[in-house]
Amino acid sequence: MKTYMTFRTNIARGKPMTNGGGDSACPFCDRETIFREGVVIRQEDPFLLIENKFQTLDHAYQMVLIETDACDEDLSTYGKEHLHALLRFAIGQWEEIEKSRKYRSVILFKNHGVHSGGSIQHAHMQIVGLNDVDYREHVTEQDFEGYTIHRQPGVEFNLSKYPRAAFTEFNIVLSDMGAIDSMADYIQVAIHFILNHMNKRFQSYNIFFYRLAGKVMAKIVLRAPGSPYLMGYSIVQVPNNLEDVVQRVQSIYFTNIT
Ligand SMILES: [Zn+2]
Repeated sequence: MKTYMTFRTNIARGKPMTNGGGDSACPFCDRETIFREGVVIRQEDPFLLIENKFQTLDHAYQMVLIETDACDEDLSTYGKEHLHALLRFAIGQWEEIEKSRKYRSVILFKNHGVHSGGSIQHAHMQIVGLNDVDYREHVTEQDFEGYTIHRQPGVEFNLSKYPRAAFTEFNIVLSDMGAIDSMADYIQVAIHFILNHMNKRFQSYNIFFYRLAGKVMAKIVLRAPGSPYLMGYSIVQVPNNLEDVVQRVQSIYFTNIT
């Protein structure tokens, strides 16, 4: 059985757009207005968790996590300190909202680029509390099984053998919170690879976070227009060169480590 959520088209119409030809002024650069008119949930400079002004989903509470005060930065370019602090902030806030028990489940994800579903270019993530939906109903541990690219105690980085939807899905499975900085490093590698070493036409990705079986998982997906096999028939295509991709990522990013 599928899950359906109601999307409020009347609210979506007012949304600003800075991606894909949109010409709105960037609302996330304008912190003065955010502090004057917005609802700030948590501030830990430069990170800011605010209420999403555009609550487009019924039975949900949508929040935006602004990652940086620079409009042209991205996860693939952050220095290590910023990267590590960001992931700790994001996972920490997500967990806190889960623990409030106000929602049936809480999702944390990120859009980047025109094909990702994102409308604002300024780097941000989203946390959404779902009143009656449990996102885990459609997620299995198999979604995170793959060919190992790299691993360290408490964290594994792999390429999905059983992608949920797209051809290329990187997984990071964190079984020990002590390894969270390594998780952040792996996320950065996956995104850098997608943006610089794969089809450069799309320049779009998503990161989806999950909490499952006592672990925190991240799935990083290259986004391109949806495949007709998937859209029409729910058939997922798996590339026959997954092991080549694993070797390419290893040779570019992990050469000095055996
Ligand atoms: Zn901006």
